[in-house]
Amino acid sequence: SERQDREHLYTFKVVVIGDSGVGKSNLLSRFTKDQFTHEDPTIGVELNTNVVNLQGKPIQINFWDTAGQERYRASTSINYRKAAGALIVYDISHRKSFTNVDFWLRELQMFGEERIVTLLVGNKCDLESSRAVSRAEAQTFADAHDMMFVETSALESTNVESTFRALVEEIYRRAT
Ligand code: GDP
Ligand code: MG
Repeated sequence: SERQDREHLYTFKVVVIGDSGVGKSNLLSRFTKDQFTHEDPTIGVELNTNVVNLQGKPIQINFWDTAGQERYRASTSINYRKAAGALIVYDISHRKSFTNVDFWLRELQMFGEERIVTLLVGNKCDLESSRAVSRAEAQTFADAHDMMFVETSALESTNVESTFRALVEEIYRRAT
């Protein structure tokens, strides 16, 4: 019945963090609506929802997408509260967005749950000719901080679906 379905619906919160302009909102809109936009970043916190089926069970994911001057905003712990997962996104063609991953990791350590599943995402991998961060360097960094690592392109839909799925599978594995 519908009631039983609802009782068995898992809901997880996932925060999507990283510098402004790295493609957080577009990764989410690609995953939840299969849409991409060339527009400028919006301001505020956007909520996005998607349902992923794992072993026949619907898992609802509530994404918290921060926007605006993320790097300099006063950090609010409420963004991180009860998040089961985090995507830390940087832009492979913009080195500063990768060195700033340190800042985002520290925020997670300060405000996030202890067992939060974290995935490092190098977005805009379609911009290979202006690459500023090698795969090997990012992989080494991710290994050192116990994160999964993947490169994506929201523009070309590369690895988007599989990245979100991997995150959800790991969250589910740890929660059950
Ligand atoms: P946010 O500030 O992190 O949410 O970044 P947005 O999703 O708003 O994207 C910022 C800019 O980068 C926009 O102009 C997007 O069109 C562009 N963008 C996002 N993802 C990609 C990508 O995978 N490849 C390329 N080439 N551009 C992207
Ligand atoms: Mg955004």
